[in-house]
Amino acid sequence: MLDKFNSERIKITKVYYCPHHPKITGSCDCRKPKAGMIRQAIEQFNIRAVNSVLIGDKKRDILAGENAGIGKNLYIQNLLREGSF
Ligand SMILES: [Zn+2]
Repeated sequence: MLDKFNSERIKITKVYYCPHHPKITGSCDCRKPKAGMIRQAIEQFNIRAVNSVLIGDKKRDILAGENAGIGKNLYIQNLLREGSF
């Protein structure tokens, strides 16, 4: 994925992911729609959430953005097609 973005001259500074599963590891703060991963990025990179844009292809992405106080949360499910990334 990062190679594809790089080939399009899009720089990805860091990738966050939730290593947990509710049925295996129990609840966590980073699994969307919770905002833990976004809050981690906000803190790490001193991001102003209200001035930020989140783009997601799942409703839980949008909910996580809203829960983190992101200013604009764009739902683009219908724009994504297999092979476009
Ligand atoms: Zn997690």
